[in-house]
Amino acid sequence: MKLLSVVLPSYNEELNIQRTIDRLSAVLQEASIPYELIFVNDGSRDETWTMIQKAWQERDDVIGIDFSRNFGKEAAILAGLAHANGSCCAVIDCDLQHPPEKLVEMYRLWEQGYDLIEGVKRSRGKESFLHKLCAGGFYWIMSYVTHVDMSRASDFRLMDRKVVDALVSMPERGIFFRALSSWVGFKSTTIEFDVQEREIGESKWSFTSLIKYAIRNIVSFSGMPLKMIAYFGFAGLLFTIVLGIQTLVRYWSGNAVEGFTTVILLILLTSSMIMISLGIIGLYLARMYEEIKQRPRYIIHHHLKGKKESCETNMGLDEQA
Ligand code: UDP
Ligand code: MG
Repeated sequence: MKLLSVVLPSYNEELNIQRTIDRLSAVLQEASIPYELIFVNDGSRDETWTMIQKAWQERDDVIGIDFSRNFGKEAAILAGLAHANGSCCAVIDCDLQHPPEKLVEMYRLWEQGYDLIEGVKRSRGKESFLHKLCAGGFYWIMSYVTHVDMSRASDFRLMDRKVVDALVSMPERGIFFRALSSWVGFKSTTIEFDVQEREIGESKWSFTSLIKYAIRNIVSFSGMPLKMIAYFGFAGLLFTIVLGIQTLVRYWSGNAVEGFTTVILLILLTSSMIMISLGIIGLYLARMYEEIKQRPRYIIHHHLKGKKESCETNMGLDEQA
């Protein structure tokens, strides 16, 4: 049987590390799947890294990567994939909200020849009304721009080495893992799962961070908002023609004195449309600026290799980054 690498992005999950290791190792050992668990500590402010180090000392199925600061979940996933040794790699949350038993089903599908097995949410679990509303809006836009139904998509997925290599070798910095791993293609299938409730700790997403995440991902994945500016511009032009004709007719018929309200409204409307358009262009400029700088996606502070080979401290930039 071939090695399965399980990548676990971890941010402030001190109480979850050991539980997750116990659950995952029990499930995978029972299914006799050879595995390694790659914990990526994404600049946690609690004892997450200490817990990972402890687990690494005690067992030989754990690999630990420690970031120099918080780089975000996508970077953590990418780092885990870049250091995976398996013939296939799975990504799973470290808070046990993704049921580990599904990994076995995913692995079996991979053995049957699928390259990408995506976990889709049957239900979204417990979320606040505002969270549901925003997530709904975000996925509606994402589905529209990517032409893929993303409303039930998740980061829980298993990928063949081909897919992992394709992802890791992407030159772009701003990565939306969920969409990009589907974008690469190959033979894919989906598997449904129920999102479990988070038992320990809390979700890392605040309302504002979700909005930022949404904008960032839309901008990094699609140029659609830029085209929208042009569409709005054309719509505005049509409106201008109609209103212009009306204004001229009034002028010629001698009724042109009133209409100050229209002028004020039009100035307000056009200036806000211009500001929004500039803002959208600015978002893309900012992303281009970030991409052009070519900074690494993440910086690794410590790397605890598997099978207790060696422990190295790498203060420089990671080659894979
Ligand atoms: N996470 C991360 N970096 C971050 C935020 C989150 O690595 O900056 C990890 C987190 O530890 C967890 C997973 O991403 O394993 C999902 O995060 P969370 O449970 O907060 O999100 P939710 O399940 O509410 O979508
Ligand atoms: Mg969670």
